[in-house]
Amino acid sequence: MSTTAQIGVTGLAVMGRNLARNFARNGYTVAVHNRTSARTHALVAEFGDEGEFIAAETAKDFVAALERPRRLVVMVKAGEPTDAVIQEFAPLLEPGDMIIDGGNAHFADTRRRERELREQGIHFVGMGVSGGEEGALNGPSIMPGGPKESYDSLGPMLEKISAKAADGAPCVTHVGPDGAGHFVKMVHNGIEYADMQLIGEAYQLLREVAGYSPARIAEIFRTWNTGRLDSYLIEITAEVLAHVDAATGKPFVDVVVDQAEQKGTGRWTVQIALDLGVPVSGIAEAVFARSLSGHADLRAASRGLAGPKASPLSESEAAAFADRVEQALYASKIVSYTQGFHEIDAARAEYDWDIDLGAVSAIWRGGCIIRAAFLDRIRAAYDARADLPSLLADDAFAREIASAQDDWREVLVAATRQGVPTPGFSAALAYYDALRAARLPAALTQGQRDFFGAHTYRRVDREGSFHTLWGADR
Ligand code: NAP
Repeated sequence: MSTTAQIGVTGLAVMGRNLARNFARNGYTVAVHNRTSARTHALVAEFGDEGEFIAAETAKDFVAALERPRRLVVMVKAGEPTDAVIQEFAPLLEPGDMIIDGGNAHFADTRRRERELREQGIHFVGMGVSGGEEGALNGPSIMPGGPKESYDSLGPMLEKISAKAADGAPCVTHVGPDGAGHFVKMVHNGIEYADMQLIGEAYQLLREVAGYSPARIAEIFRTWNTGRLDSYLIEITAEVLAHVDAATGKPFVDVVVDQAEQKGTGRWTVQIALDLGVPVSGIAEAVFARSLSGHADLRAASRGLAGPKASPLSESEAAAFADRVEQALYASKIVSYTQGFHEIDAARAEYDWDIDLGAVSAIWRGGCIIRAAFLDRIRAAYDARADLPSLLADDAFAREIASAQDDWREVLVAATRQGVPTPGFSAALAYYDALRAARLPAALTQGQRDFFGAHTYRRVDREGSFHTLWGADR
C-alpha cells in the first residue's frame, strides 16, 4: 500500500468518483476527498478493491497524501463551488503543483483562474471531460488546456485513462494554453446540441411526412449507423426509438413530455460566437429549439394557428423520402461541424491559442457524446491542409454536399409544404447558400445604414469609404 498518491480527486459525485476509479483501475494510487466525507468513505467501501485509494478527511490530509509535484483534480459543481475549492486548496500548495479543473467551467473563468494561480506558481489546467459518467469510468475524451509543461507530467496519465479511438490513439491532447481546453469542450457541447437537433428533425420528418412508426424509424437509424452517419448519437437514437414504455405499451418517445432541457454549454457556445462574430446558426437554432419546446404556454396558445397538417406519403414515396432525409441530415451535419470549427478557429486567433483543429477532431473520435466515424474525415481534411479556411473548402466535403444538395432541398420543400418545423436543416442550407452566393443583400443593408445613420459604405469599384447625401437630388 503506497503512502503517497500520484493523483488526487476532490469532488466525488458521479463524475469525480468514476474518474478516481478510472485512475485507480489503471494502476495509479488515488487520493480521494469530498466536502462531505461520507462520499469519500462510500467510494472506498464500495470500490476499494478496484485499486489503491487514500481516503482523506480534510483538505490538509488530501494535499499531504499527494506526491510532488501535486496533481489535484477538482470535479465539483462549476462556478462558485470551483472557486471555493481553489481558495481552500491553493494556500496549501507549492510552486509547480497542479490544480486540474475537470468540471464544465466557462473558459473565461478558466482564463481568470489560470492567471491568478500563475502568480503563485501553481499550474492551473482547465480540462474538458466528455462522455458523462460512463465515459469518466471507462475512458472519456479529455480536453486539457493550461501550461504546456503541465501536460508533460499529466499527459501520460490522461492518455492511460482516456478513451481510445478505433486506431488505438488516446482521445486526449494538450489543446492549448489557459482556457483553450474548456473552450473546445464548450464547442463540443454546442455541436452535440446541433447533432441532436438534426437527428430530432430527421425523426420528425420520418414520422410525419413518411408516416413511419418509431420502431420502423429505429430500424432506419440502425441502417444509417452502418454508413457514413455511424456515430454514438445515431446508435442511441435507434435504441430510444425502439424502446417501449412498460407501463403503457406505447413507444417510449410518445410518453415523454416534449420539452427539452439544457444545462448551459450550448447557450455559451452561441453567446461566445456572437461575441466573436462567428455565424453558428445551426447550433443557435438547436439551442432555440430547446427553449421553444419549453414554452408550454406559448405553444398551447399557438396551437390553433393556421397551417398545413402533414399527410403521410405512400409506401414507395416514403422509402425514397427516407433516403433523402439521410442526405439532408448528413449535409446539415457537415455544416454544423463547419460552424463549430470556425468558432474554435476564431478563438484561436482572438486568444492567441495554438490549437490544432485536426487534433481536436481526433480526440472526439472516442469516449465523447459526438464520437463518430465522420470525425476521421475532419481530421483528414485538416491534415491535408492545416490552414483550411472552412470545412466546406475541403474538396471531399464540398463534393459530398454537392451530391446531397438536391435531396436536401427537396426535404425542405416537403417540410415547408407539410408544416413540419426544420430549423436546423433550414439554417444549415441557408448558411450554405449564403456562403456560395455571388451577391448578398448585405449591400442593401449598407445602403440603409448609410441612409439613416450616415454609417458609410465601401464600393465594389473603388477603395475608400463613401457616404451618399440621401435626398439631396430630390
Ligand atoms: P455535481 O452535481 O456537478 O457536483 C457535486 C459535487 O460538487 C459534490 O462532490 C459536491 O460536494 C461538490 N460541491 C458542490 N459545492 C461545493 C462547494 N461549495 N465546495 C466543495 N464542494 C462542493 O457533480 P457531477 O455531476 O459529478 O459533475 C462534476 C463536474 O463535472 C461538474 O462541473 C459538471 O459540470 C462536470 N461534468 C459533468 C458531466 C456529467 O455527465 N454529469 C459530464 C462532464 C462534466 P458534496 O458532496 O459535499 O455536496
